[in-house]
This record gives sequence, structure tokens and C-alpha cells, in this order.
Amino acid sequence: MTMQVAIDGPVASGKTVVGRALARREAMNFLDTGTMYRAVTWAAAELGIAPSDAQALGELTSRLDISLWLDAGEQRILVDGTDVTDLLRTPEVEANVSDVSAVSGVRRALVSQQRRISARAAEGIVVVGRDIGTVVLPDAPVKAYLEASLPVRVRRRHDEFRRRGDVRDLEQLTADIRMRDKIDSEREDSPLRPASDAVTIDTDGLRIDQVVSRIRELIAAA
Ligand code: C5P
Repeated sequence: MTMQVAIDGPVASGKTVVGRALARREAMNFLDTGTMYRAVTWAAAELGIAPSDAQALGELTSRLDISLWLDAGEQRILVDGTDVTDLLRTPEVEANVSDVSAVSGVRRALVSQQRRISARAAEGIVVVGRDIGTVVLPDAPVKAYLEASLPVRVRRRHDEFRRRGDVRDLEQLTADIRMRDKIDSEREDSPLRPASDAVTIDTDGLRIDQVVSRIRELIAAA
């Protein structure tokens, strides 16, 4: 079996930045599943579909043509032929993505695509999200669950936005992260939680390269 690495964790736990760096280091493919949920949320808003309309959201997800590729290690995402990568980090998408992601019809369609992408990756793959170790790739030989305290996560998000020239209020960011984590971990379908065989890494005092090294040790041991 080719190597599959599942990385899960709450908002701003460092999954994406760690997963991308790890994939580059190990010359493996990389899949950030959060962008797929964000893309569906964006498409629904474009079409005026409410985040509460589960049936319409499920149908929309089944008919959307979502494709992903890596451009110099950065994942890009196309929806029905349009590159929407740069449209997915807006406050509107962030406000609705957890509600859209709680819809089973949305998850079913995206999870099956995530499994297909993972199975095709001959060079191995690093997949990041909320339910990778528990649902998408339950047989992945390496599973990491990243944690970090709330103040550290707020600071990371703040810095990430600032690098993009977008200054966000710390209190608002804290409230948004809390709300998203609450919906993600309390939903019925595939709630955020570590798989029973996942290794939990507290990333508070660790640099990105240190977290990457820990996961590389897990790969070496698998
Ligand atoms: O990781 P990111 O912040 O981009 O994920 C956006 C949202 O997508 C999460 O808050 C969660 O609601 C949803 N998501 C999910 N399952 C995944 C990945 C993301 O429900 N595997």
C-alpha cells in the first residue's frame, strides 16, 4: 500500500501548513479537504442556496465538478472550470462553512471524491481535514491529530490574515473559531475528533518544522 498520512485538528491547529510542508519534504501528494467544503459553501452562496437547505446543498455538491491540483506545492481548486482558490477565505465563506459541512449529502459526495483522489496518488498522499483519520481514510497507517490552545490559534489566524493584508479583530476571530469548532465537533455526521489510533501532537510550543519532524518519525516507524 502507498503511504497515506491523515492529519486532523480544529481550526488553526496548523494542519494545512504542516501537511503541505510534510508532503513537499516526502515528495508526496497533498490534499486539503477544507478547501472542498469551502468551495461548496462559496458555490451555494453564488446560487443563493441557504446553508440550512440540506437537500439543495446535497444536490449541488453531487453535480459540481470539483478538481484540485498542486501548483508549486500550493493546492488550487477549480469549480466547474473556474479557479476559485482565492475566493474561499472570505468572512462570508467562513461564517457558513461549518453549517454547510454538517450536511450529510455534502459530506457523502466530498468524502467519496477524497477517497478516489487518495487511492490514485501513487506517490503517497498527505490528507488534512476534520474526519480523515476517522472516516475518509480509516486505514491510513499514519494518523496525527494536531492541537493548540485557543489563544495560540487566534494569534495564528490573525497573522495569517494580516499576511494577506486583511486585519481582523481578535475578539471577533476568537468568537468565530469557537463557533466553528463547536459546530464541527458537535455535528452528528463525522464530528471532529481524534481517531482511536491517532497520535495527538500539542503544537503550542512547536515550530512548523518540529511538527513535520514528529510526523516524519511516525512515517518512518509505520
Ligand atoms: O480546514 P478549514 O478551516 O479550511 O475547513 C473549513 C471547514 O470545513 C471546517 O470548519 C469544517 O466545517 C469543514 N471541514 C469538514 N471536514 C473536513 C475538512 C473541513 O467538515 N474534512
